[in-house]
Amino acid sequence: MSRITDLLAAGQTFSFEFFPPKDSEEQRLLTRTIADLQPLRPSFVSVTYRGGRISRERTTRVVVDLLRTTDLTPMPHLTCVAHPRFELGEIIGGFRAAGMENLLALGGDPLPAEESYKELAYASELVELGRRLGFQSIGVAAHPAGHPRSPDLTSDRRYLAAKMRLADFAITQFFFKVEEYERLRDEMAALGVNKPIIAGIMPITSLTSVQRMAQLSGYAVPDDVVQLIEAGGTDRDEIRKRGISVATNLCRDLLEAGVPGLHFYTLNFSKATREIYTNLGLAVT
Ligand code: FAD
Repeated sequence: MSRITDLLAAGQTFSFEFFPPKDSEEQRLLTRTIADLQPLRPSFVSVTYRGGRISRERTTRVVVDLLRTTDLTPMPHLTCVAHPRFELGEIIGGFRAAGMENLLALGGDPLPAEESYKELAYASELVELGRRLGFQSIGVAAHPAGHPRSPDLTSDRRYLAAKMRLADFAITQFFFKVEEYERLRDEMAALGVNKPIIAGIMPITSLTSVQRMAQLSGYAVPDDVVQLIEAGGTDRDEIRKRGISVATNLCRDLLEAGVPGLHFYTLNFSKATREIYTNLGLAVT
């Protein structure tokens, strides 16, 4: 196992995000995707968390399985909203006992009222709990366009800066322009925070699904990107090709801008990530 803090100190990181499978078909897909992506030797992989007991089992199962059966470094996500404080403590303790060295501490996407807890209101409190329970490598989420619940960007940046002072690194929500990343990084630096901000990359393979996800995270896909993809018409292969090209160019710009890491939102598929790796000349096999 490795600490992401050490990996970031050693150089640029390349990482992948998965979600835990709900059924045996999704499990087969994830197993195949991991097998396809392993040769790319990611610095680490992360596994998302939703709510409650089932998610706890699913996320834990995937990260523990990855730790035991592969040479990958898995990082579980954990969300404040999914559990009361004592359960969050138990889960963090369980991750530590299983050998996890990294944790992504999040507020969490909204859950139905009956599954939702407010004992820990913000991700920064989960960072503090994780620290108290022994994690020395803790990441948090950063939103280049600001979080949708924030009344304004200034307060969002102030809370992010405070959270990043407690944590070790951040991973961003997806975005499509290097300027959006540079603005976030520069505004954090102006607030005295120079910790690594890893860029989250979402290759567009279907415009409607990316727009839906963007809407949920309060982000508007830039008009010129929408137009470029729409010019692919109804040809799904052409749309995909254009989406991969947008993501490749963004990664190239980010690497040139000195980004500490690229984190690919794989949605449990391997093809788009592999194509971008090849385009960037990063592919190992
Ligand atoms: P927080 O840091 O908790 O902040 C939430 C809001 O509160 C912001 O508006 C912030 O400005 C404000 N705020 C923060 N601190 C304070 C304070 N002290 N006082 C007043 N306001 C404050 N969601 C999931 O459910 N599961 C996942 O696995 C998951 N993985 C993600 C991975 C990444 C890389 C990213 C970028 C997001 C992920 N999310 C996930 C989404 C995330 O949980 C949501 O965006 C959630 O709504 C907010 O969580 P947060 O950790 O981003 O924000």
